[in-house]
Amino acid sequence: MNTKRKRRLSPEEYIEGVLQGDRVVLSRAITLMESSLPADHALATEVLDGILPHTGKSLRIGITGVPGVGKSTFIESFGSYITGLGKKLAVLAIDPSSQRSGGSILGDKTRMEQLSHDPLAYIRPSAAGSALGGVGAKTRESMLLCEAAGFEVIFIETVGVGQSETSVRNMVDFFLLLMLAGAGDELQGIKKGIMEMADAIAITKADGNNKKEAGKAKSEYQNALHLFPIAESDWQARVLTCSALEGSGLADIWQVLEEYERHTKTKGWFEQQRQSQNLSWMHSAVDYLLKQQFYSHSSVRSQLGAVEEEVKEGRTAALSAARKLFEYYQNTLQS
Ligand code: GDP
Repeated sequence: MNTKRKRRLSPEEYIEGVLQGDRVVLSRAITLMESSLPADHALATEVLDGILPHTGKSLRIGITGVPGVGKSTFIESFGSYITGLGKKLAVLAIDPSSQRSGGSILGDKTRMEQLSHDPLAYIRPSAAGSALGGVGAKTRESMLLCEAAGFEVIFIETVGVGQSETSVRNMVDFFLLLMLAGAGDELQGIKKGIMEMADAIAITKADGNNKKEAGKAKSEYQNALHLFPIAESDWQARVLTCSALEGSGLADIWQVLEEYERHTKTKGWFEQQRQSQNLSWMHSAVDYLLKQQFYSHSSVRSQLGAVEEEVKEGRTAALSAARKLFEYYQNTLQS
């Protein structure tokens, strides 16, 4: 039984299972995408090609914010609000720790207790590492699989402190930044660049004694956002307040999302953004593959240590060292 469960399915079995919305097969297909075994890459690519015509129909939402801002509580409440509208929701949580530990320490299943039992929701921690084509690729491909499995709304959650925000911004339609009232931007570790990427900012925990502060923070952020240049899509980023505990403000956030979708779809920007995202995914995959080929090449591998020493000791400039390695690589390619 165990060996049978570990067996890879055929490409058709993966594709059909995913298209039928079979969650077991979906999870296995995501595991396949995350596999770093070279033997799995061809199969993963075939499965992706097979499901691709059935992708693209969801609303892709990136959600970010520093630890403690209330992301999991928000996703639990807002997610339940969305499934309450009868929509199928997939939550992919990018776990920065999984790259090292090989497993999720965020324990998303327990973080989102209610949602994990919701028949319309699917929660999956996603490894931050790189497999098929560079950083974020695993999450990207998982998102496509979820779309093919019929999920209409997809959340991609990141911890808003690292590098992953830019790569998530580049795979979603809408980027939602969660912020706390009463803590300065510096305190929250949110860089201006991340604020600039946001299509909306939601001030969390707007309840009890914190309600007034949240209202104040809302006008402050609104003023701050007005200083940013208007987005190409002509969308003016919104600032809202919400309480995941009380469930307030969630309907407003959903309304903003719907408005954004209408606004960007009538102007053609929605499609345009996806097209340029696809192109940049392709280029980053090429970059990744090239780099991988370069560093795994025997001539580079055999010279790398010595060349690194030369650079460390200041005997060779970094750029000429890079050129030298590249020449080794090119010469062996030509011979
Ligand atoms: P994460 O680290 O960003 O995922 O944050 P959590 O969702 O784990 O929340 C951090 C803390 O804030 C927890 O103690 C939550 O109970 C609390 N919290 C989250 N949402 C709310 C809210 O809407 N109101 C209040 N008062 N507390 C909240």
